[in-house]
Amino acid sequence: MSIVLATRNRGKITEIKALLPGVRFETAASFPGCPEPEESGRTFEENALIKARAVARYTGRTALADDSGLEVDALDGAPGVRSARYAGPDATDRDNMLHLLDALDGISDADRTARFRCVMAVVTPGGRTWTEEGVCEGRILREPRGASGFGYDPLFVPSGHENSFGELDAAIKNRISHRSRALRLIADVLKTFPRVPE
Ligand code: IMP
Repeated sequence: MSIVLATRNRGKITEIKALLPGVRFETAASFPGCPEPEESGRTFEENALIKARAVARYTGRTALADDSGLEVDALDGAPGVRSARYAGPDATDRDNMLHLLDALDGISDADRTARFRCVMAVVTPGGRTWTEEGVCEGRILREPRGASGFGYDPLFVPSGHENSFGELDAAIKNRISHRSRALRLIADVLKTFPRVPE
């Protein structure tokens, strides 16, 4: 079975491939001209479906999209669906982390609770859709620690751990992350395909 990953985010691609070793993936980058639609939805689910639908339509193949982000309680759920562009349209991961630290200036340790949320969407060329969600609870540090992973990983300590995702082994992140939780549920959906349906 081969599925097109509707993302160009290297961090996501690495994690998804490690989490579903039995699936053959291609990425949207292998299909010249493949659209990168504007993520205009108000929820992770809407955005995941926008991306997966566009890629399934363009490639004629089943597509898997991940829309994910960080929700910080003291910021009423921000940056949320705007996580990738929190510090501006061309923001780097470091820009976004610094912007988040500024926004949390003066917030106590007890009030720095947050979660990563991920919605995975599968869309077939014929337009059948499935979505699944995964959440990982944790808290935001006062400065980045570690260099593993991507995005806000150096600032995020998952509940039950003392180290950030930037410090923890990729194998540990992959066991407990929002992405792995959503993917496990989507894997159950993919297992029901005798072959990738049209
Ligand atoms: P998307 O491409 O709109 O889904 O944006 C996802 C953004 O959320 C990423 O660019 C990161 O900033 C953040 N994010 C999502 N998942 C993770 C993760 O596993 N670790 C760190 N940051 C993440």
